Amino acid sequence: MEKKYNPYENFLSIMERAAGILGYEKNDYIAVCYPEREMKVACPVKMDNGEVRVFEGFRVQHSTARGPAKGGIRYHHNVNMDEVKALAAWMSFKCAIVDVPYGGGKGGIVVDPSKLSDGELERLTRSFITGIAPIIGPLKDVPAPDVGTNAQVMGWIVDQYSTLKGETQLGVVTGKPIPVGGSQGRNAATGRGVMFATMAVLEKMGIPVEGTTVVIQGMGNVGTQTARLLAEHKMKIIAVSDVTGGLYNPDGLNIPAILEHLSVRGRLLDTYSEEGAQRITNAQLLATETTVLIPAALENQITGDNAADVKAKVIVEGANGPTTVEADEILAKRGILVVPDVLSNAGGVAVSYFEWVQNLQNYYWTEEDVNAKLKDKMLSAFEAVWSISHEKNVTLRTGAYLIALKKIVEARKLRGMN
Ligand code: NAD
Repeated sequence: MEKKYNPYENFLSIMERAAGILGYEKNDYIAVCYPEREMKVACPVKMDNGEVRVFEGFRVQHSTARGPAKGGIRYHHNVNMDEVKALAAWMSFKCAIVDVPYGGGKGGIVVDPSKLSDGELERLTRSFITGIAPIIGPLKDVPAPDVGTNAQVMGWIVDQYSTLKGETQLGVVTGKPIPVGGSQGRNAATGRGVMFATMAVLEKMGIPVEGTTVVIQGMGNVGTQTARLLAEHKMKIIAVSDVTGGLYNPDGLNIPAILEHLSVRGRLLDTYSEEGAQRITNAQLLATETTVLIPAALENQITGDNAADVKAKVIVEGANGPTTVEADEILAKRGILVVPDVLSNAGGVAVSYFEWVQNLQNYYWTEEDVNAKLKDKMLSAFEAVWSISHEKNVTLRTGAYLIALKKIVEARKLRGMN
């Protein structure tokens, strides 16, 4: 039977470890163990065949101590409250690590978006936003894309929210299409951040970038942008996968051809082939001999059951929560470095912050400007995490949590919150 992992418990256990190292009493951080607000909404939608179906939606605000809640909206058939709570908490920590003035939130709908027409998806999105409208807003809680959602969905969100308010509210959501207040560079931002994190850790490890092997799980927004950027830096991507399985070529896959294939909506890797590439399962992909492994699909992929099979030198987490606590311990014992999600995939929220600032100012920046500011944020966050982890002799994940928890607790104290 498949073991169930509770990602919120995963979050709590790492946070408690960090609290212990910081010498905190329970009173100092107990409030951070609980999301500030959890909302569940029913989302009725008229389907194309005339039937009304009701979908379940969630929005969780973990913390608003450092600013408005911030975090994506996920459309996936496995969405549940524990997952959304964990994702929201990770956002509070991520925003603190990358030093953007936000708390953390997350939302989701239990739905397989590939089974809905465009019209049904739009109506579902509008129904969900109507449900959560009382608790979101540019200064309250600012959603963004996540698994199963994209810039188009964000475009519908901005319209629905603005319609409900009777005024244009571009800053209510980030990751929007550029003509409706989106930022240059946002679509590639998470992948670009993963790229900066990968470069930074390789430099620390004394491994050259060019020709270094990379394996990527997940070919969605994060996986494809990461693959494109790493291939542009002449890294050798030897395996990639999606929900249909993976492809492996020890001489390096043809990334531009794969990206071209996947650019057609609805196409997956199962209909792609290239000479010299063989099909592998996701389990085989995670056990591939490689220097860098980038899980960029979903949480709980590297667990106590398969961590011993991982043959990478370093794991750079593109996804949120891909490594369980048990797996972390096994990897640490085996000397496999893990650059944690709350640091390595923070490029998305960093540029979301830039998008929101541009919306509030009604003044827009160039892509070069955005990318330079992103690089700055990622590299300074990486250095801070690297140095505290070495100073305290802890993993990079624990180091990242130390920085974040300290900032959140400090903000709560300064505001006089219990
Ligand atoms: P997406 O929906 O664009 O892509 C998800 C990919 O994972 C798809 O290729 C899908 O086929 C694949 N996948 C699903 N189940 C799989 C499985 N069991 N094995 C292998 N592949 C599987 O989502 P995304 O936006 O790229 O997000 C991916 C991860 O990155 C998530 O954990 C998300 O929370 C995290 N993340 C996303 C962003 C962002 O800006 N989009 C930012 C930070 C973190």
